[in-house]
Amino acid sequence: MLPQDFQADLAEIENINIATASIPLTQTSKPLPDLLALERDELKNVVLSFGQPAFRANQIWDWLYRKFAAEYSELGNLPRPLLEKLQGNYRLAPLEVIAEKVAHDGQTRKALFRLWDGAEIETVLMLYSDRATVCVSTQAGCAMACSFCATGLMGLNRNLTAGEILQQILHYERFLINTEDQKLTLGHKRVSNLVFMGMGEPLANYLNLWKAIRRLHDPDGINLSARKMTVSTVGLPQMIKRFGQEELPVNLALSLHAPNDTLRSQMMPISRRYPIAELIEACRDYIANTNRRLSFEYTLVEEVNDTVACARELGKLIKGMLCHVNLIPMNPVPGSSQRGSDINRVKVFQAELTRYGIPNSVRVEMGRDIQAACGQLKVAQDGKHSRLSQ
Ligand code: SAH
Repeated sequence: MLPQDFQADLAEIENINIATASIPLTQTSKPLPDLLALERDELKNVVLSFGQPAFRANQIWDWLYRKFAAEYSELGNLPRPLLEKLQGNYRLAPLEVIAEKVAHDGQTRKALFRLWDGAEIETVLMLYSDRATVCVSTQAGCAMACSFCATGLMGLNRNLTAGEILQQILHYERFLINTEDQKLTLGHKRVSNLVFMGMGEPLANYLNLWKAIRRLHDPDGINLSARKMTVSTVGLPQMIKRFGQEELPVNLALSLHAPNDTLRSQMMPISRRYPIAELIEACRDYIANTNRRLSFEYTLVEEVNDTVACARELGKLIKGMLCHVNLIPMNPVPGSSQRGSDINRVKVFQAELTRYGIPNSVRVEMGRDIQAACGQLKVAQDGKHSRLSQ
């Protein structure tokens, strides 16, 4: 049972809808329940209810989360009656790929998936020499309407289920395991890191997010270390505090993007509801509870939030906190006249932050040529079908 006050917080967050999706979902009949929705003990009970011994649940778990079976035909050594029962009651199917793009350097791949009800989401794989990182979506669309974000243009369709979140990682686990050509995988056989920085606001889908994280962490399954996962949030103070009380040490990144409420409200409407002071207080609470370094993300938009005055104000705001600032020159968004800061402005901004003693780095951009920033591939595809203009 969730504590009452957290239930109230969740209800408040779920009510935030600055931008509702204008594109309706194509309602098809609801499919069977997703096999990936089942927790391990639930799966065991299902297996027992089918008159099969409990160890069969362990075998299935192994197929799903260690061997990455995508559909029933890939589940070996199970008795046929059990398979038939499962198949008749639970759906097991990979996400449907609508489009997949590969950056010209081959190190970034991005997939656009269609879900059972027509909702569309994006997932990105970024390959580096020392890690293979998947950028995961937690909602179809987003309710937060940040001015510089392509997903923000779409509005919110719906929360993803834990199964839909997991499927994105499983998609790229399968790709890495099944692809022999090292030029395509840089030799990676497994996904090593996750960033919840795809479509949507992860903390507005808090319970499904954590259900997925616990499954991803499960040592008998995908077995990803919590420290290799980062959740990025627009900044929902109650949820940030709650995040700091979770058992698993998952990293938190806060999309700050502006050092004062006036500017931040122009870029991020959510700031009108939760002022920066409240946000920073929640961050301090998170740091005190976890003793973990918090990341601040700061997307640099030319002449908007990249001035020396902004850098100084930011320096004063977060000086002395256990934190790191990621500076990200804005990726261009179709239809927007705003531009990312050029490298000289980035360097001046960075130097100012360093003067305040604030650890920082400029995030290397990957996949610009495949619209890898949040929501961009979907917007590009929609443009092709001219759905946004309907
Ligand atoms: N809703 C969450 C996670 C999704 S966005 C959040 O707000 O953090 C992930 C990150 O990408 C955020 O820091 C977001 O501000 C940033 N982002 C969105 N659009 C961008 C763009 N066009 N250029 C650079 N960064 C962008």
